[in-house]
Amino acid sequence: MPKRVDWPNADPANDVNHQCCSLFIITSDTTCVLLTTQQPPRCQHQLERLSRLLQRAGVNPAAGAEVVVDPQESHPAQHPSPPPGQSPSHPQGRSPSLRLEHHGHEKEQLLSKKEIVVTPTRQSTRIADIVDHEKKVSLRSAEQLKTEVRNNMADRKEKAKPAPKTRETEFGGPVGALFITLSLPLVMYYINLACTKAKCSILELPKMPKNPWILFDMEATLLFFGWLAFQAVLALVPIGRVVDGQPLQSGKRLKYRCNGFFAFVASVIAFGICVYFNVPLVKMVHAKFYRIMTSAILFSFILSIFLYIKERAVAASQLAPGGNTGNALYDFFIGHELNPRIGSFDLKFFCELRPGLIGWVILNFVFVLKAYQDTGAFPPALTLVVAFQTLYVGDALWFEDAILTTMDIIHDGFGFMLAFGDLAWVPFLYCLQPRFLLDNDPKLAWYSLAGIALLNVFGYMIFRRANSQKNDFRKNPFHPSLADLESIPTSSGKRLLVGGLWGMCRKPNYLGDLMMALAWSLPCGLTLIPYFYPVYFAVLLVHRERRDGAQCQKKYGSSWNRYCERVPYRIIPYVY
Ligand code: NDP
Repeated sequence: MPKRVDWPNADPANDVNHQCCSLFIITSDTTCVLLTTQQPPRCQHQLERLSRLLQRAGVNPAAGAEVVVDPQESHPAQHPSPPPGQSPSHPQGRSPSLRLEHHGHEKEQLLSKKEIVVTPTRQSTRIADIVDHEKKVSLRSAEQLKTEVRNNMADRKEKAKPAPKTRETEFGGPVGALFITLSLPLVMYYINLACTKAKCSILELPKMPKNPWILFDMEATLLFFGWLAFQAVLALVPIGRVVDGQPLQSGKRLKYRCNGFFAFVASVIAFGICVYFNVPLVKMVHAKFYRIMTSAILFSFILSIFLYIKERAVAASQLAPGGNTGNALYDFFIGHELNPRIGSFDLKFFCELRPGLIGWVILNFVFVLKAYQDTGAFPPALTLVVAFQTLYVGDALWFEDAILTTMDIIHDGFGFMLAFGDLAWVPFLYCLQPRFLLDNDPKLAWYSLAGIALLNVFGYMIFRRANSQKNDFRKNPFHPSLADLESIPTSSGKRLLVGGLWGMCRKPNYLGDLMMALAWSLPCGLTLIPYFYPVYFAVLLVHRERRDGAQCQKKYGSSWNRYCERVPYRIIPYVY
């Protein structure tokens, strides 16, 4: 509930509301940002008075509250009568009061005021609408103003600080990083070369080309770079919402244009047009699969070197906690800059969901069309798996802003691990099942396909619901759809969900994801290699859950321990 804090000695000449500041934002226990309308030294004095007053009033800034001086209250001429239910706290109707708002809650009340305006005529409905609209606009501009002030203050404070050294390493430290960096590209070649039209066996060594240069050619490289450039252009199209990211350690929030679904649809249409006009894309991509893959791998290395050099020039506040050990190999692998950008173009956000994920779907479409060209029909198992994977990618892009609360964006720096994963590993290994099904149609009965489809749908529902719950909760803990969900407070001001799916296990989203991974491989029958994805994915998610748990333990301390006691299962309820 809003709490009133009376401002003493409300002489108009000294009145902080009127003369000096229009808005105060408490950003931490010790910091209070103020917006000034007069000279800063005077406001500094007023700010000190405000701090003392707040302390006496028992305002706890760490509880996620902000103090707003209501301009209507401080300017009686504009607002002569007090708000309903409140008496003027000062003679002459002046109300130099500070109002304590709880994030989101009051705003929602104001925004929903439209429903309670009683209007006897159409004209007054219109007037009420205009008043309501103006309220919303002024709320929005106040929000923008606050964000700008937070960002500017944060920038100034953080520029000079040196980046703290990374003491704890992950993935086996520098040796592990070197091993992973060298072995993952080899695994990609091994798996893909082991699964060809002639045979698909993990036990027989695949025929490696005697001359490795055969895996590289200029045409494939141009195709890959053309694809990257096309996606970059689509990412710049001013369509789609601009969304604020999660607060960085400085309190600043970055802006992201979320037009991923538009890019996805535009890419599919562009591919369709090429096919319609007989551009030999299907033939070319199918024939040059390994060579395009080589370009993606090489580009991941080049991009990671660029990122490794670039991070040296940025302020400490823009760096991830990892990636500053001083060991070049490890730092190159893990990445140090949290959100590397060229102008407003965010490289990590772009790579996470665009060229790789959409590229994966286009590769799948190539395999389906190749099957159609070869056989004159769409093989059911292949078509079903491609439909599942298209749904997965389409979902990720439709809910693109949900990525802003994931570990990749909020915690990990952008280095080889993510660049390689996004651009090479995901598109060229995740299409393994469709590539296998193109060459080996298992001719499954309809009920087997229906059972597999059910598994995928069930997995998708868990995955989507869990990710949406967490994302909505992080964006607005007072979101009406989450009203019934229990959560526990943490010392950082954020809360942890313990209700709904997040009360069944600590990573319900991983559980749904794993169920889908299995559904994509089951149509491949008993051949082992296509099960590489669910097996690898299970290992990745088990390790990822532990990494995230360790980070949350650091962030939330005893609250995290309490959460773990309340929710003992990690990924699979009653099993793990
Ligand atoms: P999460 O989406 O679970 O994000 C982890 C963060 O969520 C934590 O750091 C914490 O951040 C917050 N959080 C954790 N528990 C709670 C809780 N109880 N209540 C509120 N917030 C909580 O993990 P990922 O980023 O790893 O995964 C995102 C999605 O991507 C998943 O669906 C996963 O399956 C999928 N994924 C897919 C991959 C693929 O290759 N296909 C690879 C990796 C992931 P904070 O508290 O700071 O907000």
